[in-house]
Amino acid sequence: GENFEACGGSRIMVFVRLRPMGKKERENGSRCCVKVLNKRDVYLTEFTNDNDYLRLKRLRVRHFTFDSSFPETTTQREVYSTTTGDLLEAVLEGRNGSVFCYGATGAGKTYTMLGTMENPGVMVLAIKDLFAKVRERSLDGNHTVHLSYLEVYNETVRDLLSPGRPLILREDKQVMALLQRGNQNRTTEPTRCNETSSRSHAILQVVVEYKTRDGSMNVISRVGKLSLIDLAGSERAIATDQRTLRSLEGANINRSLLALSSCINALVEGKKHIPYRNSKLTQLLKDSLGGSCNTVMIANISPSNHSFGETQNTLHWADRAKEI
Ligand code: ADP
Ligand code: MG
Repeated sequence: GENFEACGGSRIMVFVRLRPMGKKERENGSRCCVKVLNKRDVYLTEFTNDNDYLRLKRLRVRHFTFDSSFPETTTQREVYSTTTGDLLEAVLEGRNGSVFCYGATGAGKTYTMLGTMENPGVMVLAIKDLFAKVRERSLDGNHTVHLSYLEVYNETVRDLLSPGRPLILREDKQVMALLQRGNQNRTTEPTRCNETSSRSHAILQVVVEYKTRDGSMNVISRVGKLSLIDLAGSERAIATDQRTLRSLEGANINRSLLALSSCINALVEGKKHIPYRNSKLTQLLKDSLGGSCNTVMIANISPSNHSFGETQNTLHWADRAKEI
């Protein structure tokens, strides 16, 4: 893809996706505080912290700009093709790439990555697209697709599909069901039963192996790996109940997110030592970050003024990631 080749080394593409206002949010009088214009610009409005709806006043508006910003009307397909389409093409050529969804719990990370039966997300669309491309190229050689879906929770790695060896995927049918079942295996928080997986990272890795013979019948092979990551919620707030356990988990989540940022920083600064070993997440991704790998960040945000603080943090983080 041209987006990446033009950049040479490891540049990160940074995207922002604004989700629509939810039903609950509309009912509890949430106000929209984010606007996306021109597919690039994000405007974040801060209101006075006043419960009287009629007296809400605008304090200030902040402006951000990214490689692309997706308004709430953006389809799953548009998000997929803008963020991941080129990267998949590179994976077929034997390069590794990774796509991360970053943001607070409830901001739309899992919707973006996994989606629903009716509106499948990046993970499912990537696999469908991959099989379509493999079919197109079937005369050129042999492709094998291996799949693994892992969870990092509290610095422990768990297999969400079938413990043991990566699955060999023969077709793209039923991938959605497979991944949804995997997602249901993600660790559920005991204290907030309706909010699963806000402290766990889910990592889908798709390995594409290509084998063919050249004119002199020598075997040529190449391997590319695509990693699609639904990161744990980036919010700082730690539940006040079961404080000790929560803060331990919180520290580990921060450790993984922090380790990810330090690795990316070190890579782009051209450092010799990349601190992959600092967390389970970065250990798992060490061959998918840096070098000739392509990295994409999708920052997910909610439109509600009740999420203003989290949205502001996410946008600041994305803004920094853009510069490295
Ligand atoms: P996260 O994984 O970041 O915690 P979710 O992906 O679970 O957040 O999204 C929270 C809720 O908002 C879910 O009910 C989800 O279906 C809905 N949602 C998120 N993004 C969108 C979107 N782009 N369009 C419609 N609904 C969305
Ligand atoms: Mg989620």
